[in-house]
Amino acid sequence: MPIQVTRSSMPSFEEYCEEIRELWDSHWLTNMGVKHNALTSELERYLGVKHVTLYTNGHLALENVLEAMHFPCGSEIITTPFTFASTTHAIARNGLIPVFCDVNERDYTIDTDKIEALITEKTAAILPVHVYGNLCDVEKIAQIANKHGLKVIYDAAHAFGVTKKGVSTACMGDASMFSFHATKVYNTIEGGALCYSDDALVQVLTDLRNFGLCGEEGRYIGGNAKMNEFQAAMGLCNLRHLEGEIEKRRVAVERYRARLSGVKGIKLCDEQPEVKSNYAYFPAVFDGYKYTRDEVFERLKANDIIARKYFYPLTNGFACYDSFETAGTDKTPVATHIAERVLTLPLYADLSVEDVDRICDIILQ
Ligand SMILES: *Cc1c(COP(=O)(O)O)cnc(C)c1O
Repeated sequence: MPIQVTRSSMPSFEEYCEEIRELWDSHWLTNMGVKHNALTSELERYLGVKHVTLYTNGHLALENVLEAMHFPCGSEIITTPFTFASTTHAIARNGLIPVFCDVNERDYTIDTDKIEALITEKTAAILPVHVYGNLCDVEKIAQIANKHGLKVIYDAAHAFGVTKKGVSTACMGDASMFSFHATKVYNTIEGGALCYSDDALVQVLTDLRNFGLCGEEGRYIGGNAKMNEFQAAMGLCNLRHLEGEIEKRRVAVERYRARLSGVKGIKLCDEQPEVKSNYAYFPAVFDGYKYTRDEVFERLKANDIIARKYFYPLTNGFACYDSFETAGTDKTPVATHIAERVLTLPLYADLSVEDVDRICDIILQ
């Protein structure tokens, strides 16, 4: 059996069946049913955040929150290119301009020393990414945003379950988006959520994800982005096991660290002080000592171990952004350097220490 880069966490078959049993009685499958509503309140409680709005996926959540903030068309949103396509596309699909800030070399989140130079009179918001579950410098970002009157929306797709001094990533910035895709630490098969405290956003987000309808009134030109009952049921089950799954990931990560830290040619992310990690990914940067990243990738693959070049290529190098003046990987040299050298190694709750050892043996060889 090949070792894949990830493997979805799932409850037992029996637990899920029990959770969805009442749907067979009610025939209520979607549109804000009991499972959807239960998951909304459970997440508000677990995350300690005032409002959670659930979505059928994280990407549409991000598109919706940008739309809900009513930025003038052509406004600039400062973000990073070292992310999944979704982050940048959500900006551009709203008629907004992604302005790419470089990342820092410590944890590959936005380099806060480079944000202010990118601010113009058209800048409306900062959209940083807690990439790999690494927390951005949220205090510095808040300071810059306050000084310049900008909104802050976090792409927290990787950061579910991460806290700093006990405060969840859900409570940072004006809004945070989580993805509950099958490949994430916590999944609802596909799914996503927006977390925020502004009461004024509740109605507009609720309407936007349901065709912009408010009762019979067509208030917004909305789409369809509702989470269905089967997704929510999976979420209720997986939430019961989340802490245990994160603990299992921690064991795998500590083994990786024990085997690979301090090895010449391999750079790992430092652990962040005061941050409780969710151990979402294990990125390793191969600086070309003896073998390049691509050679390591191929050697692992020859051994049926699937690592991932995540994130490569950078979104500011995508062909679809060729016509954007702000695009071009040359403007973000640190992100470019990392993207050409990084591999995320296999990591999931059920990855055994023996498998971690086998992967490390091949790399060390
Ligand atoms: C997974 C992911 C998304 C999108 O989430 P979906 O739920 O798959 O739509 C957005 N941003 C980042 C960084 C992601 O990794």
